[in-house]
Amino acid sequence: MICNNLTVNKEGHLCLGGQDTIELAKQYGTPLYLMDEDRIRERCRTYMTAMKEAFGETSLPLYASKAASFKQIYRIMKEEGMGIDVVSSGEICTAIAVGFPMERAYFHSNNKTDADIDYAMANGIGYFVVDNREELDAIEYFASKRSITQKILLRLTPGIDPHTYAAVNTGKVDSKFGSAIETGQADEMTAYALAQKHIKLSGYHCHIGSQVFDSDTFLRAAAIMIDFANQMREKYNFVIDELDLGGGYGVRYTENDPEIDIAENIREIAGAVKAQCKALDYPMPAIRLEPGRSIVADAGMTLYTVGTVKQIPGYKNYVSVDGGMTDNPRYALYRSSYTVLLANRANDETTPFKCSVVGRCCESGDILQENVTLPANTARGDILAVLTTGAYNYAMSSNYNRIPRPPVVMLKDGESYVAVKRETYEDVCKNDI
Ligand SMILES: *Cc1c(COP(=O)(O)O)cnc(C)c1O
Repeated sequence: MICNNLTVNKEGHLCLGGQDTIELAKQYGTPLYLMDEDRIRERCRTYMTAMKEAFGETSLPLYASKAASFKQIYRIMKEEGMGIDVVSSGEICTAIAVGFPMERAYFHSNNKTDADIDYAMANGIGYFVVDNREELDAIEYFASKRSITQKILLRLTPGIDPHTYAAVNTGKVDSKFGSAIETGQADEMTAYALAQKHIKLSGYHCHIGSQVFDSDTFLRAAAIMIDFANQMREKYNFVIDELDLGGGYGVRYTENDPEIDIAENIREIAGAVKAQCKALDYPMPAIRLEPGRSIVADAGMTLYTVGTVKQIPGYKNYVSVDGGMTDNPRYALYRSSYTVLLANRANDETTPFKCSVVGRCCESGDILQENVTLPANTARGDILAVLTTGAYNYAMSSNYNRIPRPPVVMLKDGESYVAVKRETYEDVCKNDI
């Protein structure tokens, strides 16, 4: 199996975190998001331990909470001592609802509204990760009104395209996020931030992309960022306290995806960063990483009940399930790969047939996965599992076709509990007048 929290029991049922998914489907109904809390905590500890060992006590992993944002996730992050990234007032509101210590929260977004900035400050946000000059002006304005000094990081684009960097190493200068080092904008933003009275520039941030497997990309980005920080020291006599290298470690959606040794990767980056700082005689900054997907993705799984099975001889087969793009729009959005199997017959190797697994929405693009291989006798009532759905599934869910969102059920120490309730039809129309 693609993750070691997945097993098959003697009834041939798929298990997550040792628990029988068919029993869980019976108890909670389908569609159903499952999340293995033990796995989430294990991943937090991997980052925490590896970073403290490699970069020292001042370092901190920040969970990029856009990957999965609901109260219980923030409680877990609080207990694990993690920091968090937030990208909207809605995420801030969810985090403060469970008493998350907001001094460990970093506020991203390329377009924070005045209301967002004021709300974040009112709630004691630790850092704004500033995208652009207008945002700096707004932060200065609101911080001066409150007579506070607001800590910020500047979001920079080091000019690396994570998927093609060998060929085109300036690919991301045209990103909608941040200020480019190459164009001189990062330098201008540094000078501008340093000139503000109510802003403390704590350092720099970059995020090179997502689902990255190649550690070279992170090493290149770190080298460019430190080199830039050193230039700014020479120019403005300014030394950073923090360097935030973003998120992006890839996870295994299918057998084709490699498995990353995160601790080893972190050691590698730490070795390079320390060596470069030493060579430049630059004080070692406190390091931040922002894992999202790699914290929650493989903790998750979605269960569905099979409905219509349609065979169009000579053309195509369809297996329809009781969810779809409303609980997982990622195939529709980016053709994302997933591993799909029957959870009630996980070892069934009878004549396989190729099919598209589709949802129940009135939309041809409502596809969960194409070219899936399932047993040929797959039928109404079978339970179908889509693996590795812990990141960007619940977070991206919608009520298209007025379909209520599934619940999020967490698994911990052999027990299960509801972390997010199933939406009801009343919930779906609760704001209608
Ligand atoms: C999305 C995002 C992350 C998390 O990326 P993952 O691929 O989920 O690890 C981290 N930082 C920023 C700024 C992001 O936009």
